[in-house]
Amino acid sequence: MEQYDIIIAGGGAAGLSLAYHLLCSALQDCSILIIDKSPKDQNDRTWCFWTDQPTLFDDIVYRSWNQLQIVGDAGTQTIDLNRYQYQMIRGIDFYTHVQQKLAEYPNVTWQRGVVEQITDGADAAYVTVNGQIVRGTWVFDSIFRPAVLKRDPRPHHHINLNFKGWEIETPDAVFNTAAATLMDFRTPQASETRFFYLLPLSERRALVEFTAFSPDHFSHTAYEQALMTYLETTLGIGEYTILSRENGVVPATDHPFPRQTGQHVYTIGTKGGQIKPSTGYAFVRIQQDSAAIVASLLEHGHPFTGAGNPRHYQLLDSLLLQVMQSYGERIKPIFSVMFQRNPIERIFRFLDERASLREVMALTTSLPIRLFLQTLAQSLLTDRPAPRRPVLPRLSTQRG
Ligand SMILES: Cc1cc2nc3c(=O)[nH]c(=O)nc-3n(C[C@H](O)[C@H](O)[C@H](O)COP(=O)(O)OP(=O)(O)OC[C@H]3O[C@@H](n4cnc5c(N)ncnc54)[C@H](O)[C@@H]3O)c2cc1C
Repeated sequence: MEQYDIIIAGGGAAGLSLAYHLLCSALQDCSILIIDKSPKDQNDRTWCFWTDQPTLFDDIVYRSWNQLQIVGDAGTQTIDLNRYQYQMIRGIDFYTHVQQKLAEYPNVTWQRGVVEQITDGADAAYVTVNGQIVRGTWVFDSIFRPAVLKRDPRPHHHINLNFKGWEIETPDAVFNTAAATLMDFRTPQASETRFFYLLPLSERRALVEFTAFSPDHFSHTAYEQALMTYLETTLGIGEYTILSRENGVVPATDHPFPRQTGQHVYTIGTKGGQIKPSTGYAFVRIQQDSAAIVASLLEHGHPFTGAGNPRHYQLLDSLLLQVMQSYGERIKPIFSVMFQRNPIERIFRFLDERASLREVMALTTSLPIRLFLQTLAQSLLTDRPAPRRPVLPRLSTQRG
């Protein structure tokens, strides 16, 4: 049986990030096996994130912006990011960059295969891949199966962050490359939180996505219809070519994600709860988690960092999820107000779960607090989300 110090099940964002962090550390000589069923040679997603610090992936940042825009009923807010940047990394650049690094190390093996089972043992864990068993002192599991999130509204809350986007090219220069549009709420909310996201890649090229926090999976037609209406009617862009498409469903849930699932098994990425429930962002958290795992291995000889997300942020995320679930259409003014009344640094620190208690208080009290209190009271009294109130018009949707 083949043996490795470290086996990483799934070579996506979390698996490859962990491998990269290991290779940038004093653990670079340990034997590592990474298993993925896909060759990771497609640009299947782009990762965006705000940062005020260099990251290990600065060399592959594809675009960055110094301004963000929020578009709501009161018009467009353009926010200078000051010392922060909003950065974009293309999936294909990330996969290629990390795979090139892995190829420099003879102690690292990339295996294309399907992980069928992970079993914990007394001295090691065992991974069954394509019918063969391999042994790892530590196994990191990033293979997330959404079915584990049963849609039990009690005591957990679960909606999805659904999105679909097009990279488009226009014959004329129509995009302002200085600012990325984080949220453009000019679309019927239909009891949900829905917005467009627009990343200008040049004056003639942009990635535009229709995004909805929703329990439903939208039909292909519903997405295409929403994107067309936005581009043609809202932005007045009559002529464009679709260069590529991106879509995804990210779980937005306060469901617990166990980390240590065996004496030798640790979950990472989505499976390790690294997606922030109320925003769907994970890339930076994955980097921080990878760094924490490496530090723990070096300091303690095991990867169990013990670092969970702070409890008060878990509660705030859960509350926001409940508001989205029950009063999704009321998120639009909340976000607009949040960006109007708070400096961007405070907002980013809050979303990064690094704000001081004072900053958390300042930010939360700047919001329409009644809705949150009402939702909190409802949840305490009934332990159930308030029923969703259908509001027409709805896009046609279909259950996934
Ligand atoms: C389209 C999209 C866009 C996103 N954009 C952003 C963003 O802009 N910013 C942000 O912070 N977050 C974003 N996210 C959220 C999050 O960062 C990503 O989902 C991220 O890829 C999660 O990393 P992961 O390693 O958990 O999952 P993945 O990156 O999906 O990796 C899991 C890997 O496991 C492999 N796998 C699955 N099953 C098996 C099996 N049985 N055997 C072997 N291999 C298997 C898959 O092929 C995949 O490579 C986005 C998510 C999506 C879906």
